[in-house]
Amino acid sequence: MNLFTESNLSPDLLKAIGELGYEQPTEIQKQTIPFILSDTRDLIALAATGTGKTAAFSLPILDMIDDASRKIQLLVLCPTRELCLQITKDIKNYTKYLPNLKTTAVYGGSSITDQIRSLREKPQIIVGTPGRVIDLIGRKALDFSEIHWLVLDEADEMLSMGFKDDLETILNETPSEKQTLLFSATMSKEVERITKNYLTNPHRISVGSINEVKKNIKHEYYVVGYRQKKEALKRLLDANPNQYSIIFCRTRMETQEVADFLMQNAYAADALHGDLSQAQRDTVMKKFRLKNIDILVATDVAARGLDVNSLTHVIHYSLPDDPEVFVHRSGRTGRAGKDGISMSLIKPEESRKLKQIKLSTKIEIVEKKIPTGEEIIKAQVEGVFEKLFTEHEELFTFDDSLIPDLSAFSKEELVHQLLQLQLRDLALFYKDKQDLADQKLSNDRDDRGSRRDRDRDRGRGRERDRDRGDRSERRSDRDGGRERGGKPKRRNENMTRFFFNLGKRDNLKKMDMLEIINKATAKSKKRADIGDIEILEKFSFFEVEKSFKDEVLKGLQTQKFKGKDMRAEVAN
Ligand code: AMP
Repeated sequence: MNLFTESNLSPDLLKAIGELGYEQPTEIQKQTIPFILSDTRDLIALAATGTGKTAAFSLPILDMIDDASRKIQLLVLCPTRELCLQITKDIKNYTKYLPNLKTTAVYGGSSITDQIRSLREKPQIIVGTPGRVIDLIGRKALDFSEIHWLVLDEADEMLSMGFKDDLETILNETPSEKQTLLFSATMSKEVERITKNYLTNPHRISVGSINEVKKNIKHEYYVVGYRQKKEALKRLLDANPNQYSIIFCRTRMETQEVADFLMQNAYAADALHGDLSQAQRDTVMKKFRLKNIDILVATDVAARGLDVNSLTHVIHYSLPDDPEVFVHRSGRTGRAGKDGISMSLIKPEESRKLKQIKLSTKIEIVEKKIPTGEEIIKAQVEGVFEKLFTEHEELFTFDDSLIPDLSAFSKEELVHQLLQLQLRDLALFYKDKQDLADQKLSNDRDDRGSRRDRDRDRGRGRERDRDRGDRSERRSDRDGGRERGGKPKRRNENMTRFFFNLGKRDNLKKMDMLEIINKATAKSKKRADIGDIEILEKFSFFEVEKSFKDEVLKGLQTQKFKGKDMRAEVAN
């Protein structure tokens, strides 16, 4: 059943929204549609993008607008070009069966002459960004002296983007007996001021859902010192593989800095902020929508125009001052029935700000520790399997004969081997890294000296460890290859166990060892049985069928591995 039918909207509008699949009015629509249809008072509606606010204000107005007149009757002002295009598209969809109603979008960063040309069609509806609207008024291409409705959409954003003077200029071009409808996600002081000066006796509507805290979002916070923030961010990204997320920063400079850091570290990331040209912003948003990049670093304002539903994470690289902005940012994830995670990086001195956010939003934000290298590798392994079984699309045909003989490996060994390959860079990065939780939290400059000392000490410690490792390995060498746990291995009577002079540090892998043995015994008609292969740090052990002993010893002498001589001895 289409519950819009009870709203008294005309059949042409009902047909159009029915085709769009709207079945029931959203909360804001339930409140605004009857109000606008029946009341001439001004309106303040607290509602954010995603609540259905465009339809909330446009449907009742479209119902009342005079399509026989060629005068501009409705002006919608909004902060960004993206929103401007979105609203225009929505209105054009709603007016599909009202062919005499014309809507024109006017916004910066696009040819003004083309826009002037399209205004010659005499649209009754203008959707515009403040700067361009003023330019067009200046060129006498727009005349708002007879509008009936003025919509200020995302008023808080327009004001925080510095459009206050522009708004006042435009408002002064409009008649006093119009109805002004102001939509805002937050009620900032500036918004209050505008409403006091330009709205008369407004009716107020607030939709719980805009800043209603979504239950399907988990909120976490991490305390890190200023100097550790970027590394902490890297760890959070690494510990959450397969993510599609927005990282919110406070300033354009910070946004660019963080994005640069991520790009330098080979993440598919990019920046979105006001210092970029419109064309650059469009490109970045397109890349993000198409998932050519999966991490977007953005300012609050720049991210406004972006409407994506499948974000897995929202990361607050810097906390906003306004708790409502925190809710709004976080609400970008957990959409379309999916769960979401919001993670905040908090400097120690920001705990009061966090407390204030918790108090005023009543969100439960749980403290977590920055993941350790070990936890990251674990998460990455899980991520590989998650991807393995969800993104399975056969893009090429694969000839099984290309797979070498892998019978010497167990299934687990093969998986280990593939994971080692896949996660090699990451594992190398975290190998000797001290975990952030062990580092002292400090923004203090003196800390730099002491950290350097600590690093030096750590370096020495590692060297000591390495010496110790050498000694124990040599000992096991003499033992002829005990398991690292010290338990003697049960030997296969038909096999000879060999000591081999190269190991992990020579980049020797099990696969290489197999190939070396196969080559050494290639002349023989019969294939040698190969047993256990154990690659240690500096050398290795392997087992080959007894009768191939001499062949192996000789065959190895003529080979080189990555330029290095090789040598095998029978292990005692
Ligand atoms: P908005 O808050 O205006 O940006 O709208 C968010 C999204 O909800 C848009 O994609 C609209 O097309 C859609 N929408 C608006 N109203 C309804 C409704 N009553 N039923 C289903 N979808 C809607």
